[in-house]
Parts: sequence; structure tokens; C-alpha cells
Amino acid sequence: MNPSRYHRQTLVKTFGAEGQRCLHKAHAVVIGCGGLGSHSASTLVRMGIGTIDLIDHDTVDLTNLHRTAVFSEADIGKPKSEVLAAHLRTVNHDVAVYDHNITVTKENIITLLDKASIVLDGTDSLPLRQLINQTAVDLKIPWVYAGVYETCGMVLGIIPGKTPCFHCLAHTLPEPKTDAFPIHGYLPQITASFQVVEAIRILQGKSPSGLIIYDAEQQRCETLNVKRNPKCTCCGRNIHR
Ligand SMILES: [Zn+2]
Repeated sequence: MNPSRYHRQTLVKTFGAEGQRCLHKAHAVVIGCGGLGSHSASTLVRMGIGTIDLIDHDTVDLTNLHRTAVFSEADIGKPKSEVLAAHLRTVNHDVAVYDHNITVTKENIITLLDKASIVLDGTDSLPLRQLINQTAVDLKIPWVYAGVYETCGMVLGIIPGKTPCFHCLAHTLPEPKTDAFPIHGYLPQITASFQVVEAIRILQGKSPSGLIIYDAEQQRCETLNVKRNPKCTCCGRNIHR
């Protein structure tokens, strides 16, 4: 590894050489390689994550291009995970990049997540988020939820057993009802940046910030202090697994 690659970010006082080592040791799994996942993965690889798995079952579509990183018109019809991985390998050869052109199911998710030090949500599916959450709670792996809709993005870093899980809050979080939900082109990149910040904070041993809500139309951001639900059927304190 050429240390000069990361010199400017190691000058950041809250990160430094120790933060860089922490990132280099980490293994991120990005589920969903569209608007959110392509931006989050790109930032993590450029910043020097050690290992990254990119998972998506879908192919690049013309309607993705306004909000995704990396993909071009020439990639239309190709698997998102493969195109993203091929590009990111050219960005930083120090990072071990693995692509998985598959659908995440309850049969394969443990195998996909069990080596992760952090999981990043790039999906737009409530059932899949619930499956990620349950598996992350079971395996005690931190993960970072991210959701986008129209001009609003939401991010929540989750450390199982310590902070509210997705299921503690799921009833309060909006979920798109259709595949073709409205979304501004800039929003995934902004939200993915908030998501990466939370992921790196967690990898550095810091506490998640809370529920971050960014409203681009108002250029306003707030962070809500959220609490665990002791009766949560996923992470409730009275549940012993
Ligand atoms: Zn919970």
C-alpha cells in the first residue's frame, strides 16, 4: 500500500493513521448496487476499505443513470455488481473487491454476511431490510440503513445489542410502495455520504449518531435521538437467542 494515497485524509484529526488502519482491516458488505450502493461502495474503496463485497441481482437500466455512480450507457443490460466491481478494481488495487450477481435470500444471507465488519444497505425493499436486520442482530454485525425518497434521505447506524435496530423503528420509517418511486438524481450521493460517515464512525468504535434526516428541498438536516424498543421482537432485551 502506498501511504501517500491516503495522506490527506490521515491529516484529519478525528481519523489519522489509526483511522486508516482501522479502515484497511475492515470488511464491508454492500447490499444493492444502485443509487445508494454504487456511491457508498465507490467512496469506501477510494478511502481504503480493506475488503468489500458488492451484492446485486439486477442489471443496469437507462432509468438508473441519473442517480448512480460509475455506470454508463455502455453498461445498460450488464449486472450492476460486476460493472461496479470492475470499475472499482481500477480505482484502488489495494482493495479486495468481490462481486455477487445474486438475489439475497434467507438461505444465503448468513454466508454473505458472516465475515462482514459492517453492512451497508443499498436496497429499496422493506422485506430485505428486515432480513438484513434480523441477520445482523443474530450475527452481532453492525449495519447502516439508508433510505431515499423524492428529496429526503434517512440514515441510521445500528449496533446490535447497543442501539435501536431497524425493527425498533421500522413502523416510523417511510417505505416506497412501488419500484418507480420519485427520486432526485443528487439524493443518493448525498445520502450515501452520510451512510459512509456512519459506517466509518462505527468501524472506529464511535457510537452511531442517531436517525439522520436530510431534506434537500429545505437544505435542512436533523439528527433524532432514537431509543431501543425493549419489546422489539427482533432485538428486545427480554429475548435470548
Ligand atoms: Zn429492535
